[in-house]
Amino acid sequence: MTNQPTIGVLALQGDVREHLAALETSGARAIGVRRLSELESVDGLVIPGGESTTMSRLLTVFELLDPLRARLKDGLPAYGSCAGMILLASEVLDTRPDAQHLDGLDITVRRNAFGRQVDSFESDLEFTGIDGDPVRAVFIRAPWVERVGPGVEVLARVPEGPAADHIVAVRQGPVLATSFHPEVTGDRRVHQLFVDMVRGN
Ligand code: GLN
Repeated sequence: MTNQPTIGVLALQGDVREHLAALETSGARAIGVRRLSELESVDGLVIPGGESTTMSRLLTVFELLDPLRARLKDGLPAYGSCAGMILLASEVLDTRPDAQHLDGLDITVRRNAFGRQVDSFESDLEFTGIDGDPVRAVFIRAPWVERVGPGVEVLARVPEGPAADHIVAVRQGPVLATSFHPEVTGDRRVHQLFVDMVRGN
């Protein structure tokens, strides 16, 4: 790997373009990943927001589910936002019985956890590892993390309101996940953190 890592964005469904753009402005070479050869060529992978059960089905259809599980097991750095967090989890609550996940993070997440009243909302978060101003977090039918395993570091929680204290950002070794969507704000610090994680790997 050069100082400019190649980072893939899983491009089966969801907000792929925003992540590609955010990665490019954070110093990576960014490519969409739809096939095995693309998955094999990347130094890190972003799993975007979208709909986790649809992405799970498409991972199977595109024959990427097992190869991606294997690469994660081998230590591939990954960042999952929202539906991507759900896919990276080891246990998912309130999902479809046939939905698959990737076991990249020892966490239990609840889908659509914030409920109808606060379905979509924004908040300013303190984020461990990101200095300066709080991170503006946009939540869209987001999951939260209900359990973290011993190797998992909690990076951010909802600061206030009806969902206060729920965990919304975690890291376990080379795998990062947020309940929210940093790609829709102009703030590139979460993507920068992930690019630095890939460089350091
Ligand atoms: N609710 C979606 C799911 O269950 C996630 C929403 C999102 O990624 N913005 O997959």
